[in-house]
Amino acid sequence: MIIRKYTACPACQNPLMLRIGVGYAKRQFITVACDSCESVSRGELIAEGDWPEIALPGMPDLNINDHCDWQVVTLHADFPIPFPSTTFSPYLAAAQYLGDRAPIYFSGVGRFHHLSSKIDDFQRAYELHIRERWDLANENIAKFLHEDWDTNAITADCQEFFHRYLFLSTLFIDPIGRWSEAKWEVWSRIFKKETEFAGAATRLNSDGMLRRLQTRISEQLFFLVRNSNQWMAAVPILHAKAYPKRAPSDWRIPTDDFQSLRDAYRQNFELSCQALSLVIRMQNIAEGRDAEVIRIPGGTNAWIPRTAGPRAPSNLRQFERSNSATKELFLNRSTRLRHLWGVCFDRGLRNAISHADADYSVKKGAIYTSKGNFYYHDFLGSVAWQVCLMAFWLDLIKLWRKYATCWDSTKRRIVNK
Ligand SMILES: [Zn+2]
Repeated sequence: MIIRKYTACPACQNPLMLRIGVGYAKRQFITVACDSCESVSRGELIAEGDWPEIALPGMPDLNINDHCDWQVVTLHADFPIPFPSTTFSPYLAAAQYLGDRAPIYFSGVGRFHHLSSKIDDFQRAYELHIRERWDLANENIAKFLHEDWDTNAITADCQEFFHRYLFLSTLFIDPIGRWSEAKWEVWSRIFKKETEFAGAATRLNSDGMLRRLQTRISEQLFFLVRNSNQWMAAVPILHAKAYPKRAPSDWRIPTDDFQSLRDAYRQNFELSCQALSLVIRMQNIAEGRDAEVIRIPGGTNAWIPRTAGPRAPSNLRQFERSNSATKELFLNRSTRLRHLWGVCFDRGLRNAISHADADYSVKKGAIYTSKGNFYYHDFLGSVAWQVCLMAFWLDLIKLWRKYATCWDSTKRRIVNK
């Protein structure tokens, strides 16, 4: 549904005809950039009653006959706006360039919105599970699912529920299965070394490292889910780029959350560098070393990325103290994870936005920096990919904690507890 509103820019009185698409969420933020003076006005669309309401403080209600030279501004909370098209519906445009994939995409978005609309309940249950309060976690899962859950579920089922739900809810972001491929690559490292892996997992779990990391990453993921209106409209572009047949060549996403998302981007990167240490340990185990040993100086069974040089970290303690550039070099034995990492943290964009000289223009849909200019939707697309990566890390930490708590060293397998 598209709602029209005739109004004027509060700064220069330029007459504006707003065409506002109603998205999934009950409350949707609106950002209007005036073409004439570039002033930005902010408001909200509230879709809770029978008819959506639009609140745009400071912007008057005008009549269609008041002007004949309306500047048309099209907005939608869930879709990018093809540019320079101002007359087409963003929903229809998205449906057109998604083509056969549109029904799957839209049902995936619907599933995600089920999670985002109840994210407080989900987070409460998840945090109980982190603290191993299994009885309360199960009770709160039952509340989240409207009783459709056995409150006496075993630990392993409880752990699985959260991560399967997160996977299914965020799957729609990933157009080409990068997450699944990376998961197979990383998880398969320990298939032949389960005993060693369980030993390393038990050590990290009793040290509290896994729990701390799980807490930090889940808080970050839930922040991104709660604020999905800031990045959601970029996701159709990820799909259009993967299947570019019908995609328009240019888009705009007229939102104004650069400051908060830039902080989230940096935090996602730092947390991913921390979580990468788990992958390094799994690689060490797979290659027959102690989990904490990347190489023994002078030894034959050593792992030194070609570009890292002789000062490369030789154990996990040194790895964790290394800078992020050095840490990233150790993705060299994880091709598929490196692909996922690459779409999350494009180096050019990451370096450019890390400086205080990055300027964002809502009207132009671009970020201007001394290290180059970037489309805002490319920045938002990276953030959307990072949602997948955060869920990927949580899934991986679950694997570690599962081996720490449910591995039976006599039977040499995971047992139900
Ligand atoms: Zn203006």
